Amino acid sequence: MSEPDILIIGGGAAGLLAARTLARAGRRVLLLEARNRLGGRIDTSPEGGFSQPVEGGAEFLHGDVPLTRQLLAEAGIVCHDTAGTTYEVEAGRARPAESFFDDMPLLLEKLRELPHDVVLNSFLARYFPEPEHRTMREQVRRFAEGYDAADASRASTFALRDEWSGNGAEDSPRPEGGYGRLVEWLAQDAQAAGVTVQLNTQVTELHWQPGQVRVRCADGQVLQASQVLLTVPLGVLQAQPGEAGYLHLKPDLPQHREAARALGFGPVIKVLLEFDAPIWEQAAPQLAQPLPNLDFLFSDAAIPTWWSQFPDPRPILTGWLAGPAAHRRRHAPDAELLAEALDSVAYLLDTTPEFLREHLRAHRIVNWAADPLARGAYSYSALHATAHRAALATPVAGTLFIAGEGVYQGPYIGTVEAALVSGATAARQLLHEPTPRPPVTG
Ligand SMILES: Cc1cc2nc3c(=O)[nH]c(=O)nc-3n(C[C@H](O)[C@H](O)[C@H](O)COP(=O)(O)OP(=O)(O)OC[C@H]3O[C@@H](n4cnc5c(N)ncnc54)[C@H](O)[C@@H]3O)c2cc1C
Repeated sequence: MSEPDILIIGGGAAGLLAARTLARAGRRVLLLEARNRLGGRIDTSPEGGFSQPVEGGAEFLHGDVPLTRQLLAEAGIVCHDTAGTTYEVEAGRARPAESFFDDMPLLLEKLRELPHDVVLNSFLARYFPEPEHRTMREQVRRFAEGYDAADASRASTFALRDEWSGNGAEDSPRPEGGYGRLVEWLAQDAQAAGVTVQLNTQVTELHWQPGQVRVRCADGQVLQASQVLLTVPLGVLQAQPGEAGYLHLKPDLPQHREAARALGFGPVIKVLLEFDAPIWEQAAPQLAQPLPNLDFLFSDAAIPTWWSQFPDPRPILTGWLAGPAAHRRRHAPDAELLAEALDSVAYLLDTTPEFLREHLRAHRIVNWAADPLARGAYSYSALHATAHRAALATPVAGTLFIAGEGVYQGPYIGTVEAALVSGATAARQLLHEPTPRPPVTG
């Protein structure tokens, strides 16, 4: 390709949708992706010996997510609901879960009384200090940490209030065949529109001045264009010099970095287990606590949250560790995490890890905080997140633009929808900003 107009760094949902939009508008686009695959935190793959692809990253549609649904429909990908039985396991005893929180009405009442935003821990300490609310404090904290991958000592109570007020027993459907099909379709469409994609190309330095961008890659390549769209994860933008994945910006953008570091970006460890049969469905001599029709499960196990693929009969269990608990285990070797996962499932089903190992056919540990090209899973709202996201998304000299789920402003924080909307927004900005004149040289 002759020199592109625009370099896009990062081939996740945000980068791909922006690339397609820009190419369709006649821009020459070169998309650089560090991994050997597109999709980023959408990672649908059979890696680990699975009989079919499984989701290492995004899996569900959370809420209405209009742009995601529109694109899935255009791609001809249908979605399936997850209806089944949700269980709770506490002190070794399983029972169908009754409600989101036992004291939801009281929680919402106090949330509405809160006059100004504070972090979740402060809210709980101020409004629920009594010993009789200990369980509730724990449940609320666990939910924010488990679902939003948030740190309760940093998470915005107002943002959680908004999330919980609108929330109830909403379905979380899955795209049939996985989110990876959406990535494939977007990538094909983008390439058909003229986008050039270069995989295995990690940008290590980005030099910019108005109207000109030059990037240096880990393999020594140097590439240039008039403008650049940076869609690397928030975790990469938060990294300090010398940390894995750090991207040098020359000159650096201190206000953007500061905004990135003030935002919340939580870790997740996902444990995928495929068995030779859905062993949790029925009691067996070595399994005393079956969980028929299991869809989701919340528990006091070391790996507390689990789900099946119900109503899809594939014998797969997914374990989920998020927030501070995942941060503490981010350096744990995979073998240790697998053992911990099997211990947790053994506790939940009242069986033994040995029995589970006999039936285990494939496994994969996806530790997003340990991945240098992500450095975490997805963002959550810390205090003043709206202002920090706006600062981070501010284009620089009509030349450097930033997209990705971490800069999204709207109700679907930390989702594929957030990434897609941010990619579409950045593409529109790029198309409407007059391209600055490159500097005169020579
Ligand atoms: C475990 C997990 C579960 C999730 N579950 C859901 C869910 O159920 N539903 C939902 O809607 N969302 C979910 N999400 C969130 C969703 O996956 C993300 O919000 C979305 O995919 C982010 O897209 P993005 O384009 O902003 O970033 P990414 O997909 O991360 O894309 C950025 C790309 O930049 C690349 N990159 C990084 N550094 C460089 C560099 N220096 N040079 C070149 N390339 C670089 C990365 O490799 C990556 O491909 C989940 C995420 C995780 C991790």
